[in-house]
Amino acid sequence: MATETMEFKTELKQLLHLITHSLYSNREIFLRELVSNASDAINKVKFDSLANEDKLEDNKDWKIRLIPDAKAGTLTISDNGIGMSRESVIEHLGTIAKSGTKAFLENLKQQDVKTRPDLIGQFGVGFYSAFMVADKVTVITRPAGSPTDGVTWVSDGQGEFSLESSVKPDRGTDVILHLKEDAKEYAQSWTLQNLVKKYSDFIEHPIVMEVETEGENEGEKKVVEEVLNSQTALWLRNKSEVKPEEYEAFYQQITNDSDKPARVIHYTAEGNNEFRVLAFIPSKKPFSYTWEEPQGMKLYIQRVLIMDSCDGLLPPYLRFIRGIVDSADLPLNISRELLQNNPLLEKIQKNLVRNILEGLEALKNTDEEKYLAFFDDFGVMLKEGASRDWSNKEKIVDLLLFQSTKTEPGKFTTLAEYLTRMPEGQKDIFYLIGESRELIENSPLLEAYKAKGWEVLLCTEPIDEMVLPSLREYKTKGLKAIDRSETETPETEAPENAEEFKPFLDYLKTKLPDVTDVRLSKRLTESASCLVADKDAMTAHYERLMKKMGRLEESSKRVLEVNPTHPAVTLLNKLYAKSPESDQVTNLGKLLYEQAVIAEGSKLHDPAGFSKRVNDLMVLALEK
Ligand code: ADP
Ligand code: MG
Repeated sequence: MATETMEFKTELKQLLHLITHSLYSNREIFLRELVSNASDAINKVKFDSLANEDKLEDNKDWKIRLIPDAKAGTLTISDNGIGMSRESVIEHLGTIAKSGTKAFLENLKQQDVKTRPDLIGQFGVGFYSAFMVADKVTVITRPAGSPTDGVTWVSDGQGEFSLESSVKPDRGTDVILHLKEDAKEYAQSWTLQNLVKKYSDFIEHPIVMEVETEGENEGEKKVVEEVLNSQTALWLRNKSEVKPEEYEAFYQQITNDSDKPARVIHYTAEGNNEFRVLAFIPSKKPFSYTWEEPQGMKLYIQRVLIMDSCDGLLPPYLRFIRGIVDSADLPLNISRELLQNNPLLEKIQKNLVRNILEGLEALKNTDEEKYLAFFDDFGVMLKEGASRDWSNKEKIVDLLLFQSTKTEPGKFTTLAEYLTRMPEGQKDIFYLIGESRELIENSPLLEAYKAKGWEVLLCTEPIDEMVLPSLREYKTKGLKAIDRSETETPETEAPENAEEFKPFLDYLKTKLPDVTDVRLSKRLTESASCLVADKDAMTAHYERLMKKMGRLEESSKRVLEVNPTHPAVTLLNKLYAKSPESDQVTNLGKLLYEQAVIAEGSKLHDPAGFSKRVNDLMVLALEK
């Protein structure tokens, strides 16, 4: 068939341009990427052949071969994996720009491009790193089970690639790199031996290369195939025999995260069902992390990779965990659908969740700094777990960190620590949710709590609105939002002169259509007024959230509370007694309400009216 020329997708062109023109340091990672693709391809054909033996083609001497040719200046990475059809070559090596491509480009723009090519694998475009060291790449491939469908892909990475049918007797893929003038070292055996040790030692399939060694007789040379990697499935080894560096390298290998993991969880579950677990708690969100991406652990059954991210292994809130589960008891030829419903999977999940939560607890107790960094990025997911996973609720709640009126900005408390500080007489745990610490810290609602020394948690994440109310209590203490009218306030006695205010409050209520009631407040010490949500009504912050998401149009009405010890209130009450129903009483009353709206961070309905009322006051003050 004739040669066909096609163009790369636009983003890929940009990516290739960047790779060929800007990435110079750390170029050696191209080998890790190509070897990892070869290994993926072998895993895929192993998996497919479970259902369809034809795909094996009597070729199961699984191997990734490195073939350097110093004379020709080429390096070939060859595998007997799944191979690619013409369509998948077009799709995977040229026309589909994965969502990661753009993200990678943007990240590189912000960073020093030249120093971070190692990030490329995170974005699902690892193949193109070949162009860091090659000015031409040839891919000869043919798919498993279709011996006559070979195809050759060639590109110089400049914007186009060509395709041609070709004969390839063996299943799999050869990637041939025509090395750049300044990258010839990658055709040297010893360079490759070192690179495999450095980056690909844990790849589970043998990475082999032909090397010359001494023959049996003096001066004789012979060529032997050497296995370059130790191929140890780390999770099968004994914990005590694995070095921290080995765990780190393995973690980086399977996640492409360039950071070290915050903690390693490695154990064998024994008993009726045996399975091995090697799980990692990441130290922070990797660059490419997206919430939508399928996350989860790899599932192996008897050392065969069955699923790259098996969502049945972990509940969604633990989607930040990476690693491997290798089960000896699940049937090898199980379909994915049946797998999801297998009761054993559920047992594994239960066990995993328990061990991961214990791992998190241990991290929290032993390395505060690491845990803080972790929590900063993934705490939201734990909060999600606290409101969803009822069977583990207590353990998860103990992992949560909060800011409070007794922590400095940037410092945190757990609920357990909060309890140790609770003064006598305080029955509940209090919290206030808002946009920012600054905003809620200045809320008039906090005044009486502060005066009394009752600690209030200051929560600023949208998810807090879902989670905190759903928790209801912690260790028999209630969890209460202080912007709700029914929440207990430090001052319990009603003021002695409450009756004196009643007619004024009733009058004010008739003049303020946006409130359900006007009451005397027990929670204010300095401010004149505040707003609280009545039982069952949404709080102000929650309403703002819902409006932002387009789920709510009208605000619900709130309760206006006024401070009976504040002169603005007492004097206004007196004025009302003297000349009830005067315009001045009405306008000043409205101002009490409007101040409270502003203080809670909401918008005024009638900002023009408010300005006028303030200006009238100014004139009054200045005329005196
Ligand atoms: P990723 O490996 O993250 O998917 P890459 O850019 O490394 O991204 O590879 C893109 C795709 O090309 C792979 O997903 C795979 O479908 C295909 N591919 C690359 N190398 C091989 C190979 N050696 N054998 C079969 N398919 C391959
Ligand atoms: Mg890859």
